[in-house]
This record gives sequence, C-alpha cells and structure tokens, in this order.
Amino acid sequence: MTQGILYIISAPSGTGKSSLINSLLKNYIFNNIKVSISYTTRTIRSGEKNGKHYFFISKSKFLKKIKNNDFLEYAYIFENYYGTSKIMIEKLLNNYTDVILNIDWQGALQIRKKILKTRSIFILPPSKTQLFHRLKTRGQDNKETIKKRISYAINEIEHFNEYDYLIINDDFNTALNDLQSIIRSEHLKLKYQIKKTNILINNFLKK
Ligand code: 5GP
Repeated sequence: MTQGILYIISAPSGTGKSSLINSLLKNYIFNNIKVSISYTTRTIRSGEKNGKHYFFISKSKFLKKIKNNDFLEYAYIFENYYGTSKIMIEKLLNNYTDVILNIDWQGALQIRKKILKTRSIFILPPSKTQLFHRLKTRGQDNKETIKKRISYAINEIEHFNEYDYLIINDDFNTALNDLQSIIRSEHLKLKYQIKKTNILINNFLKK
C-alpha cells in the first residue's frame, strides 16, 4: 500500500472538518484525491445518502465485517460503530490515488500502527466557547446528548499531539489554504516528483 498518499484528518465534531474537505476536493488541482466512504451503524441523517456519505449497515453486519477482518480500522464512537474498508483503501492507493480518511483519533492510532507512510492532520476550533456553542446548537438534542457530545469532543482534542500537522479553523479560507498547502507540499517532495517527471529528468541527464 505505497503508491498513493494516505491522509488522516481528525477534529472534534463542530469544527468544520467535512466542509474543509469538500472545498478542498472542488479544486481541480486536487482531482486525484478521494475521500474514503466509511461503514457505520448510525442512523442516516436527513440530506445524507447511502453510499455517498457512508455505507449505512446494521450492527450485526458490522460485527460480521470485524470478524472477517474487512476493516483497516474501526471504532465505537458516540454509541455507533464506524469503520474503513481495507480493500477499498488498498485499491485506491495502488492506483496512485491519494486518499483522505475523515476519522477519529482511535482510527488514526490503529492506522499509524499498520501503515507507516501516513500524513495526519488535526483541526482545532478557534475557541472553547465557539466549539461548545456549535455543539449545543446542533440538532434538537437533549441535555444528556449534548453533554456526551462535549465530552467526546474534549476527548478527541486530548489526542491532537499524535498528529503530524495542526490547523486552526478560525477563518475558513485560511484553514482551507493551510490544508491545501500540506497536500501541495507532499506532492512537491523529491520522491513524488521523480516518479512524475521520470521522462523529463532522463532527458536532461541523457548523454
Ligand atoms: P458523524 O456521525 O458525525 O458523521 O461522525 C462522527 C465521528 O466519526 C467523526 O469524528 C468522524 O470523523 C468519525 N468517523 C467517521 N467515519 C469513521 C471511520 O471509518 N472510522 C473512525 N475511526 N471514525 C470515523
């Protein structure tokens, strides 16, 4: 699993992670990057599509997939299972496609142990007040759910220092620019450029 670059992006919910990823992919420069579609046991939200946002499956099917070793990583988050398909990621990377995993710290930890060549990015909200406000006003949740959501967000932030890069999403365009810069700089690395410009380089060095 070495040809494409595997990016892991984590953030506490309410940080604008998905919007940043979606905007990144709209830019034609980043046309060879795909976002992995995870499997989950959580219920589908309005506006979501099966096979686009997630593959929504039952708990029994998810447990069967764990048993079959189908997941590159999986985690139990907020009373639901989430997992990344191993075969899907292998296919994309082997096809020289970069892949973004929009996953939590638990999944990131599992992947770092299995695949050494990952680039992981953590996104922080600009302030605690803003994060709490976003989490409290999200959906029609009761106090108990909000409390759990806040505690999970803090738990996610506790792992920020396990990542290679840190972005603060205060101004959206600045954060997007930061994300683009990380990916652009990976592509400018000598190792990557040599593969791409083989013919050109050979031509220069031909005697
Ligand atoms: P949501 O239910 O709001 O879409 O996602 C909840 C959390 O699950 C987010 O932090 C998201 O990054 C994480 N998540 C989504 N898919 C996966 C996955 O396949 N594996 C892991 N470990 N986390 C995931």
